[in-house]
Amino acid sequence: FLADKSAKVFVAGHRGLVGSAVYRKLLALGFHNLVVRSHHELDLTRQADVEAFFQRERPLFVVLAAAKVGGIHANSTYPADFIAVNLQIQTNVIDAAYRNGVEKLLFLGSSCIYPKFAPQPITEEALLTGSLEPTNEWYAIAKIAGIKMCQAYRLQYGWDAISGMPTNLYGPNDNFHPENSHVLPALMRRFHEAKVAGAKEVVVWGSGSPLREFLHVDDLADAVVFLLDKYSGLGHVNVGSGKEVTIKELAEIVKEAVGFEGEIVWDRTKPDGTPRKLMDSSKLAELGWTPKISLREGLADTYKWYLENVVKQQ
Ligand code: GDP
Repeated sequence: FLADKSAKVFVAGHRGLVGSAVYRKLLALGFHNLVVRSHHELDLTRQADVEAFFQRERPLFVVLAAAKVGGIHANSTYPADFIAVNLQIQTNVIDAAYRNGVEKLLFLGSSCIYPKFAPQPITEEALLTGSLEPTNEWYAIAKIAGIKMCQAYRLQYGWDAISGMPTNLYGPNDNFHPENSHVLPALMRRFHEAKVAGAKEVVVWGSGSPLREFLHVDDLADAVVFLLDKYSGLGHVNVGSGKEVTIKELAEIVKEAVGFEGEIVWDRTKPDGTPRKLMDSSKLAELGWTPKISLREGLADTYKWYLENVVKQQ
């Protein structure tokens, strides 16, 4: 993959957290034949439009980072959208890519594909060994179908489609919504707003004891490039940092990165969620890739982006 920087690469979902990071990474590496389309220009749920796009553009590589995503609230309010839109997008893109001369495709999923009670750290083998977390099973079922579709096309046609499953991601272009976002951007925003308002305390949900793993999206983009270059196996590959922090530790590091000087107050009426969520990324480590961005560095970078792109636009 890295040998020819003039190869045409289609990054599907280039405005999202993951797609935008992959796009930046490819540009930084010198790829100069990147193809992107906004949602408005190309609706990936429309099969005929996707087919026409591939016939016209004929990319050599595809990174499939387009998806309908959202938190627990969105997932339980729009289950039909989460299953149907994601199945449509990935089926259209994977099939059209195969039939229009794409050499290699990388499909991106999420750690929610794994059973709710999978042993920790979660290995790739845990897939389909138990029931899913009910709140996001619509999204998870679509993503599992995507992994299986890549495997099926490899088995039946010998086509080079692979899948990467990232852990909890953060970074530029994340969703900083106060209630609907994930913990890291939610806390960044809350600490920032408290600092600006001169507030004495910030409320953080739960007990602070759950453990979570975080990966900066630029590390994921680096792993995506690595996998496109080096991996052509049947199985999907976990992409995590391998580093766990408690929510309490996370809150302290975000507080420091933002420069808030007040107190943290725990709201124990809010749910903790699952006590621990860690992926086993040893398969990727054995292939030769390890993450480079520490949580502290990654938070500083994300806060800078938040100030320039969210705060300034308000
Ligand atoms: P999860 O990893 O699927 O549980 O997703 P979240 O990122 O939403 O939550 C992770 C943990 O952070 C949970 O234990 C939450 O209770 C805790 N948490 C603390 N404060 C917040 C907050 O302001 N927003 C969110 N989303 N989670 C928070």
